[in-house]
Amino acid sequence: MDFKKLSAFLQENGLPAFRLKQVRDAVYKNFASSWDEVSALPAPLREQLKHKFRLHTVEEAATLVSKKGDAIKFAFELKDGHKIETVLLNLLPEKWSLCVSTQVGCPVRCPFCATGRKGLKRNLSPDEITDQFLAAAAYLKKTRGQKIGSVIFMGMGEPFYNYESMAEAIRTMSDPEMIGLGQRHISVSTAGHVPGIRRFAKEFPQCNLAISLHASEDAMRNDLVPLNITYPLSQLAKALNDYIFSTRRRVFVEYVLLEGLNSSRSQANRLSSWLRSVAAPKYFTVNLIPYNRTGARFKAPERDRVKVFAGLMEEYGFEVTVRKSLGEDIAGACGQLAGK
Ligand code: SAH
Ligand code: SF4
Repeated sequence: MDFKKLSAFLQENGLPAFRLKQVRDAVYKNFASSWDEVSALPAPLREQLKHKFRLHTVEEAATLVSKKGDAIKFAFELKDGHKIETVLLNLLPEKWSLCVSTQVGCPVRCPFCATGRKGLKRNLSPDEITDQFLAAAAYLKKTRGQKIGSVIFMGMGEPFYNYESMAEAIRTMSDPEMIGLGQRHISVSTAGHVPGIRRFAKEFPQCNLAISLHASEDAMRNDLVPLNITYPLSQLAKALNDYIFSTRRRVFVEYVLLEGLNSSRSQANRLSSWLRSVAAPKYFTVNLIPYNRTGARFKAPERDRVKVFAGLMEEYGFEVTVRKSLGEDIAGACGQLAGK
């Protein structure tokens, strides 16, 4: 919603300024998804605005609910016809987390990720990011009477390649006058964009940082996360060390487990040594993600191997979680978002 234009429109038509606040509250606090729901306005004004302003920049094109009901994937259509995906995940009872996209496609092109396969089409605007939240919140309110408790920037795209839009979306989400979600409930996942990490540490020290590591030696990481060619592990290590010591916050390390590549005992060893070279284990939560199928040449390891890897990392002193794959039946799991 373009509030600047709305404000100008109200002024030009000699309408009171408090109308703006009424619309803002309806949009940000009550998650109105159509002008008819902006009930504080007199009906004739509502009619007038309906024809002049779109409430959201994204339009629900399809909604898929997983069999268990714990993952809901939205395909949103943008004004120019591009499609993006947003996923609601029910991680704990009544606790919903929203995974938002920041780009149409992604320029990083990790070979195991469905989003990366298409390359980058374009960046999303701040409103296109925020509106994923507003549309999903409206859906959750209507269908279940529940709320979104946290946001993860872990959908399509590399957030730090669209830093400005991401930053403005975070400000809108966290400003108490607007959506009002605490920054501690907002997490950003990066493939290792070093300048982005440095800027994020300064500007959003209250938000959480997740880093998609996947390999702890340059040769393998160059293949798995091609951004490593630009920002190799040594630079990433320095940036993470600075991040941890300036924010005093822990970092979430994502590690996709791929059979025959990065999931052996010796790879667990390397991962531990590399992380310890950055900071003490207490500063990391290692999130193991068994590979979700995307039609690429990779395979997930057997369950036992995942257990062994997780066990080793725990022995080495790290907090470890193995990500449950929610929404695999609706292709809404990590890496499966392609915006078809
Ligand atoms: N571009 C950012 C954020 C979006 S990707 C990043 O890479 O961090 C979100 C997470 O899903 C990343 O950790 C990514 O590596 C992981 N992922 C991608 N494809 C996957 C797949 N096929 N199986 C499991 N996880 C995958
Ligand atoms: Fe882009 Fe992240 Fe997918 Fe890599 S994993 S291609 S960085 S969205």
